[in-house]
Amino acid sequence: MKFTFFYSVLILCTLSVQGCYSQNNKSVKQSVMDSSTKKKNPVYSNTDSTKVVLADEEWKKILSPEVYNVARQKGTERPYTSAFEHSTEIGTYYCAVCGNALFKSDTKFESGCGWPSFYEPISKGSIIYAKDNTYGMSRTEVMCGRCKSHLGHVFDDGPPPTGLRYCINGVVLDFTKAQEAEKKYNTENNK
Ligand SMILES: [Zn+2]
Repeated sequence: MKFTFFYSVLILCTLSVQGCYSQNNKSVKQSVMDSSTKKKNPVYSNTDSTKVVLADEEWKKILSPEVYNVARQKGTERPYTSAFEHSTEIGTYYCAVCGNALFKSDTKFESGCGWPSFYEPISKGSIIYAKDNTYGMSRTEVMCGRCKSHLGHVFDDGPPPTGLRYCINGVVLDFTKAQEAEKKYNTENNK
């Protein structure tokens, strides 16, 4: 009986990849997606809200292997590897695949789970949700509202005011500092 319980806990810990971990390996930092990836990505835009639908082979050509794995194959980056996890910079987080605005930095919080965490998306339409019953768990998957890329999962153990924790793979996030975002917005509107 004890053995079964131990095993259940072990399996849960192993599979609960988006859950909270107590260890904190800060030594491994992945490099944030470089701008060269964006340059060869024709669908990337911070202003175009048209839905993006591409065949898998197209995504494979456009995206880096790391981004492709998480975004299109619903992979999970290793915990504590995202440079965004502890970032407190003020600005906006975009989908690294298509440039869709996803989260504002003021809804980001330290969850300690190993992935960048937010309590609220930037707008209702910025995220879409799907039931995820893989690995014997009942979770809610979150995807980009524009390109349907896998971003992570949402859990109901977040802080007020929403009580939600959007646990997001940093590799599919792209960050623009507030001042730069403002500059970009002004340039777009003065054309
Ligand atoms: Zn997207």
